[in-house]
Amino acid sequence: MPRPLPALPETRSETAFGDFKLPLAPSEAVAEANRCLFCHDAPCIAACPTAIDIPQFIRKIATGNLRGSARTILESNILGMTCARVCPVEVLCVGACVYNHLDQPPIAIGRLQRHATDAAFDAGWSFFRPGPDSGFRVALIGGGPASLAAAHRLRRCGHACTILEAKGTLGGLNSTGIAPYKLRVDRSIEEVDWVLAIGGIEVRTGVRVGEDVSLADLERDFDAVFVGVGLGADSRLGVPGEDLDGVHGATAWIEQMKLGAVELSGIARAVVVGGGNTAIDGVRELLGLGVPAVTMLYRGDRSRMSGYRHEWEAALAEGAGAEWGAVPIACEGCRRVETIRCVRLDASRNAIPGSDFELDADLVLVAIGQSRLGAMLAAMDGLRVEGGRIAVDPHGFAGRGKWFAGGDCVNGGREVVNAVAEGDRAAQAIDAMLRGGAKGGSSDA
Ligand SMILES: Cc1cc2nc3c(=O)[nH]c(=O)nc-3n(C[C@H](O)[C@H](O)[C@H](O)COP(=O)(O)OP(=O)(O)OC[C@H]3O[C@@H](n4cnc5c(N)ncnc54)[C@H](O)[C@@H]3O)c2cc1C
Ligand code: SF4
Repeated sequence: MPRPLPALPETRSETAFGDFKLPLAPSEAVAEANRCLFCHDAPCIAACPTAIDIPQFIRKIATGNLRGSARTILESNILGMTCARVCPVEVLCVGACVYNHLDQPPIAIGRLQRHATDAAFDAGWSFFRPGPDSGFRVALIGGGPASLAAAHRLRRCGHACTILEAKGTLGGLNSTGIAPYKLRVDRSIEEVDWVLAIGGIEVRTGVRVGEDVSLADLERDFDAVFVGVGLGADSRLGVPGEDLDGVHGATAWIEQMKLGAVELSGIARAVVVGGGNTAIDGVRELLGLGVPAVTMLYRGDRSRMSGYRHEWEAALAEGAGAEWGAVPIACEGCRRVETIRCVRLDASRNAIPGSDFELDADLVLVAIGQSRLGAMLAAMDGLRVEGGRIAVDPHGFAGRGKWFAGGDCVNGGREVVNAVAEGDRAAQAIDAMLRGGAKGGSSDA
């Protein structure tokens, strides 16, 4: 039986947002499914990190077999309900659809996936059972998408699992980071409960590995360990005035907005520093919560920003402003930020003398990345850490005995679907190792 949801305040700021991609009506879903060409070497499958058999699940929608469709999706991606909402399909499956070369709209794969997985959730269908008890125990550090996908696969193989999560809520950034117009925390937690309903996954929240439990304890008490700790805290600007009230790390502010309430009364102008997807999310969230003027401040030009073009176009349509080719050099104000002082950069990203200017800002979000890998793992003998990421072989083996890893702490911060794929892959390698098949993994990281 699913556990009750943790108490979430009804006054959460995120509840101000509606769904930005509305679900398809049943007749629309069938009509869209019937447009699919059911390609033989379907490029949409190759573009999906979890390799969902897209033509097969679409065909099942076309023939009225929603249950079979959901099963096909969830067999490859146990977080298929979230991914249907949050995947950047424009650059993955939908971007690869053959219709793009036929001058016709590509198949709405994400919306069809949502149609099938929402039906599965709403009807409470369950598809998967735990395998026969293997007697092995696996610890998973972190309760985000990577660990959830790994734990579910390991249970299907019959291994007992324990998830150790530092926060009070499972789901990782699905619960604390994803923009609420894509996925709200209550839906994320419903999905977590659905994953846990397979049974045999012990959950310990409020436990920070490295502080409350040592790595040595885990190594002693478990037959394998999966590391899915994601990334660390927001990176800082390193400029004077950064500690003034009203200057926040973007992911910390987004978490507060999703799990609780943020105070925005009297905020007339906000600046979001950065050019990635988190920066764009911050801009759209501030606009959606009623801040009249929100400006993104990015050091490069528009063509160099790492955020997706379709996301930025949506932000522009919602009223976002931008300052390109400039960086902050100070946050200024008396206790609370009032302005952000900036300098323009030349093509080599050097400050142009005399180009200082000020932007009025009652609120600043800093979205220039998250720190990588805590000291906890860096200090772990034998784990290969390169550029702040855990280096793994193609099976997720982390270079030491029984340790495996996946998700953002390995790939440096990609998408939910990558974390699911890497968690699943590592779980299969752990199963093979425990059963004495492929020991550990190869050393070709
Ligand atoms: C603001 C934002 C918006 C995003 N939007 C999208 C989107 O729209 N679509 C998309 O596909 N992807 C999006 N992403 C990326 C996506 O959320 C991540 O790629 C994905 O969540 C990574 O999963 P993970 O399990 O590796 O890590 P996480 O989701 O970060 O989960 C890691 C978990 O480990 C826990 N943890 C850390 N250290 C410890 C420790 N020592 N002991 C115990 N627990 C620990 C953390 O508390 C956390 O719950 C977004 C990311 C951000 C920051
Ligand atoms: S590429 Fe497009 S048309 Fe072909 S199977 Fe995939 S969704 Fe259908």
